[in-house]
Amino acid sequence: MALRQMDSLPVEEGTRVLVRVDFNVPLAEDGTVADDTRIRESLSTINRLRERGARVILMSHLGRPHGRPDPKLSLLPAARRLQEILGSPVTFVPATVGHEAEAAVAAAGPGDVLVLENLRFDPREEQNDANFARALADLGDVYVNDAFGSAHRAHASTEAVAHLLPAAAGDLLVRELWALDDILGRPDRPYWVVVGGAKVSDKIGLLKALMPRADGMVVGGGMANTFLAAAGKSMGASRVEPDAVTAAAALMNDADRLGCPIVLPVDVVVTTEFAAEAAARVTGVDSIAEGEMALDIGPQSIRAIEAALRDARTVFWNGPMGVFEWDRFREGTDAVARILAGLDARVVVGGGDSVSAVNQTGLQDRLTHISTGGGAALEFLEGRALPGVEALQMADE
Ligand code: AMP
Repeated sequence: MALRQMDSLPVEEGTRVLVRVDFNVPLAEDGTVADDTRIRESLSTINRLRERGARVILMSHLGRPHGRPDPKLSLLPAARRLQEILGSPVTFVPATVGHEAEAAVAAAGPGDVLVLENLRFDPREEQNDANFARALADLGDVYVNDAFGSAHRAHASTEAVAHLLPAAAGDLLVRELWALDDILGRPDRPYWVVVGGAKVSDKIGLLKALMPRADGMVVGGGMANTFLAAAGKSMGASRVEPDAVTAAAALMNDADRLGCPIVLPVDVVVTTEFAAEAAARVTGVDSIAEGEMALDIGPQSIRAIEAALRDARTVFWNGPMGVFEWDRFREGTDAVARILAGLDARVVVGGGDSVSAVNQTGLQDRLTHISTGGGAALEFLEGRALPGVEALQMADE
């Protein structure tokens, strides 16, 4: 990939480096940062720029404020967490562009770090608006994009601004692209794809794109219900997407044609109530009663997955096998994490929920790469161009 990297940018003592980071972190009830993985993953870029004496101006979005200021989605907690991690002051700027932001940057010295307010408080961010991009560009001398999680969006801070300043990819963006490019282009075989999560409709594109490349697929989680329904099973009160049953049937036909086995659950953990403490039982997928819903895969399914993946040399995993947020329905997801951690294989995990699921098991260090980007990782593996990355390549020409 002909990506311009940070080291090639003209950065000297005092250079204003505008960095698009992905601080779109989950917040706890009390408003503090619940999971700071994305902040920690950006440290390499931030620290290396500081070492070169840059004034580091960080910008990000958080959540979906729909173009309006929303105090609950301020980046202040993220700035505070960054300050704790760095152990040196971080200036939070309660504005994105304009006089206040410009004054804060002007007052900063070499090595200082600033965090601007949530970019999506301004509707022009998501519109990829040229004037907003210009106002952002006014804050920096050079631009670095380190927000892999937002690289699939053509927004002012990821796309338009990259054409206005000397631009380069940050360390995290480069790391992510290399890890994913490796499994996209040159997977060691057998190459297996494990998908779960709530909805098939979100992942049809991914499954279609990966099927011709993969040697097999495991489908679990809520989306397996739609496949099982397409295979003629009665799914009781399980969440099935009626509009996606035909697509699931077509995918299973394609899989047959391509010789790419799809491993579906053979047993599931069911309950009659969608609740954390609901009484649960394990049943085969042929005997789900009316009123019962499948919220996790069962022990036989876990054994089948283990057997299917035994020889895998490359695995991409996206999406939990069940409602892993609730202890009663997390065993399938935990088991898959354990199986993957025990393989002699390159294992890449992509997608927000799969990342929390892996972190919950404490096995994250035993996997090859855990992507910080959900949608971006999926789009990249579907073979789609990421506008945030494309913009950096064009800037290099
Ligand atoms: P996704 O964002 O598509 O990866 O979906 C993740 C969500 O899917 C998690 O919040 C899980 O609780 C949910 N999920 C996984 N399995 C099921 C299931 N069998 N029924 C309902 N929700 C599920």
